[in-house]
Amino acid sequence: MKRIAIFGSTGSIGTQALDVVRANPERFSVEVLTAHSNSDLLIKQALEFKPNVVVVVEEAKYSVVKEALQKEDIKVFAGEEALEQAAGMDTYDIMLAAIVGYAGLKPTLKAIECGKVIALANKETLVVAGDIMVKKARQTGSALIPVDSEHSAIFQCLVGEMRNPIEKIILTASGGPFRGKKPNFLVNVKRDHALQHPNWSMGAKITIDSATLMNKGLEMIEAKWLFGLKPEQVQVVIHPQSIIHSMVQFEDGSIKAQMGLPDMKLPIQYALGFPQRIKNSFPRFDFRKFDTLSFEEPDTRTFRNLALAIEALNRGGNLPCVMNAANEIAVWAFLRNRIGFLDMMVVVEKAMQKVPFIQEPTLEDYFNSDAESREFAAELVKL
Ligand code: NDP
Ligand code: MG
Repeated sequence: MKRIAIFGSTGSIGTQALDVVRANPERFSVEVLTAHSNSDLLIKQALEFKPNVVVVVEEAKYSVVKEALQKEDIKVFAGEEALEQAAGMDTYDIMLAAIVGYAGLKPTLKAIECGKVIALANKETLVVAGDIMVKKARQTGSALIPVDSEHSAIFQCLVGEMRNPIEKIILTASGGPFRGKKPNFLVNVKRDHALQHPNWSMGAKITIDSATLMNKGLEMIEAKWLFGLKPEQVQVVIHPQSIIHSMVQFEDGSIKAQMGLPDMKLPIQYALGFPQRIKNSFPRFDFRKFDTLSFEEPDTRTFRNLALAIEALNRGGNLPCVMNAANEIAVWAFLRNRIGFLDMMVVVEKAMQKVPFIQEPTLEDYFNSDAESREFAAELVKL
């Protein structure tokens, strides 16, 4: 029985992970559940899965959660620090890191320090401080198992290839709802349209990141850290059907791909069950329903965010951290109709130019760069 701590249990990844747990009660038990403010769902989940601990970050929600769970043998905590404390508990085996954005960094670092297995959905943490996370994981023996579908695909392609170097990886991208569109169209795009992803149903932030291609840029940086790659070994190809989840090319030119219908439950289940594959009844891919799998070059002139992320990947240092912070603010502002679709890329670019570059940042430097970039971007979006 694997004991799981789900950080971000009320989100898109978190709820799908609980579907996997529900279907496999003999394999998984839930030890920790956390939410930011969705106390109703957190309570419902806690009553069903009976974890040892729940954390609600928004302190104003503490009393309602506490009261609802008072008859249960469940400890309830509130506040940001409680996340880290829960991450440090020795009563769980695997953390599913499914908080969105920078907020997931400290609890994930804590779990790595404790040598836990991390099923990692939260790509922003690796973008912000990938070097520190990877180094720490090596020291403590903590394993980072990707949940992001592309990285899960690469991870699956690498099973059994321990001694065979990677020539390059090819990350596939659906292209999002605005594939093929040009700036004269994008300038008028509104939030609700950008939230309609053609192939995946996901949380709001990653859905907007997919529409701007920032998501793929974040994933390039995520791949660099997860698989120890040089920037030039990471390539992106647009594959609108989202059937090939990514590919690895080895030194003999052979390419392995991992395929399947787009369904996040698969990579979630693979990460939680690793190294075992668990039988399930998810819908299967049928070649007769897909007569074409196609590929195209990404348009980085229109979708500037991908070009900016490639710059951050190449230069490294604190630049990915700065980019990520500005992007979080830009997406936040776009979701509130404060800025337009193309403005998001302007905010990110300006912050990357503004915040001083640090080649070899410490963790403290990352905290400061994040704060500085956020503050600068917040000023911009007020205009
Ligand atoms: P959601 O927005 O659906 O869920 C986010 C979760 O994090 C919720 O439980 C939310 O709580 C919690 N949360 C939000 N802000 C904070 C905060 N400041 N402190 C603590 N907890 C917080 O996101 P997704 O599930 O879509 O994505 C989660 C992560 O997984 C992201 O990093 C994303 O990039 C990655 N990912 C997601 C995929 C997907 O299909 N959704 C695919 C691949 C990667 P509450 O509900 O209370 O707000
Ligand atoms: Mg992905």
